[in-house]
Amino acid sequence: MPEINSKVVTRFAPSPTGFQHIGGMRTALFAYLLARQNNGTFILRIEDTDKSREVEGSIDHVIEALSWLGIEFDYGPKNPGPWGSNIQSERLDRYREYAKSLIQKGLAYPDPYSQEELDAFRAQAEAEKRPFLFRDHRPAEFEAWDGTKALRLKVPEVKRYTWIDAVRGELSAGPEMLDDIILIKADGYPTYNFAHIIDDLEMGVTHVVRGDEFISSVPKFLSIYDALGIPYPVFVSLPPILRDDRTKKLGKRDGAKDVLEYRTEGYLPETMINFLALIGWNPGTEQELFSKDELITAFSIDKIQRGGGAFNEDKLLWMNKEYLQKYSHEEFLTYILSGIPEKIKTSSLYSDDVLLRLVPTLRERTHTRAEVTTELEAGEYDWVFTEPEQNPEQIKWKNDASTQDVIPRLKEALEVLKTADFSSPDTLKASLWPLAETVGKGELLWPLRVSLTGKAQSPDPFTVAFILGKSQTMARIETACVKIGE
Ligand code: GLU
Repeated sequence: MPEINSKVVTRFAPSPTGFQHIGGMRTALFAYLLARQNNGTFILRIEDTDKSREVEGSIDHVIEALSWLGIEFDYGPKNPGPWGSNIQSERLDRYREYAKSLIQKGLAYPDPYSQEELDAFRAQAEAEKRPFLFRDHRPAEFEAWDGTKALRLKVPEVKRYTWIDAVRGELSAGPEMLDDIILIKADGYPTYNFAHIIDDLEMGVTHVVRGDEFISSVPKFLSIYDALGIPYPVFVSLPPILRDDRTKKLGKRDGAKDVLEYRTEGYLPETMINFLALIGWNPGTEQELFSKDELITAFSIDKIQRGGGAFNEDKLLWMNKEYLQKYSHEEFLTYILSGIPEKIKTSSLYSDDVLLRLVPTLRERTHTRAEVTTELEAGEYDWVFTEPEQNPEQIKWKNDASTQDVIPRLKEALEVLKTADFSSPDTLKASLWPLAETVGKGELLWPLRVSLTGKAQSPDPFTVAFILGKSQTMARIETACVKIGE
């Protein structure tokens, strides 16, 4: 296993081609943890050399996602390092300089072929059932490069490469992977293959942390390192994130969505950091809940697994609920406010106070703000915010001969409630229970609850009365008595 230098430098290097999904954030997190635990440096670098794929707003989006998760970077698109900008399109002269040094060494040359000629070579290779390799088409003599043609690497040595990946161990790939790849495109922009190596060199990156889909390209990269005569960094290839059933890589439909959508749904940054850290890494203990600082201490490359890590949505939900436990009811109220449906906010009895009394019930049944919204939208708690429909037939207990039978019981309940302590469902239960034992539990509790909610199903009457508060509770019981008496 390669040793960790005392000065570790890592980077997260997204291309600005749209939103960040959890795979990208997991890579960023692992690179960040590695840097922080070694008192090293973490860089956010923007790899925007493919202008055709660029999506406006992507850079702000990645910065926002990282900042939401508390993944702080030391250098980024808005704070250049001693090496200059961290945005590749602002570093074109750097790539050109290294390209020229390769030309001087005879290790780079302008591509003499048109796209049609290249297509013909490729078609011919396919027809002959052999891989298309550009190095078979290398011209005998190199022209001077005027910058209008693509610049290609002359593979310094056609050989089998063997290298160490800090996660995968020893890897090896043969000459069949080596091609005279393009370093600088005809449009003047470098390729990812070339630019990231120059940047990693100039930025002093010691550990290249990225998804293992890059492993197959490593021999190509190594041929560039060799041509430049520079040392290899430590490669840390992260396993893919799989669907929960492990049948395939997590796709857009299975949760590989914009990471900021999780924020909108009410996942806490602590949850996401903790959850992402455990995809493809395990601490080697039973511990599942880790703060960011605990992760920085516990993280280690040799506990990154080689095989894919599953995205377990139930675990994500569980974890969010765990982190929400630390919220007081008042904090939980603030947390759900942006998710309260309009129809609730505009209903006649809505107030922050009543919502606060509903919070303990709501949070018991939900894991996220989005789930709270769903419950409220489904109408589960409409009785809290609007006067219920009171139907005497429904209020009547099943053993009652007539609807009138419930009136004395409700009146007695009103008497008790006049002096009852409404500060919690428990105090209300303590007040009403003796009466329930005298007149019968179902005889009292059913009419009481149905008078208050108009529903056959709802929380118990003590919880309901607590949520409604004293005046609403008394008023509803009184109205029910009037209705039944009519
Ligand atoms: N720009 C590359 C990507 O978006 C980064 C790969 C790397 O980290 O080297 O996947």
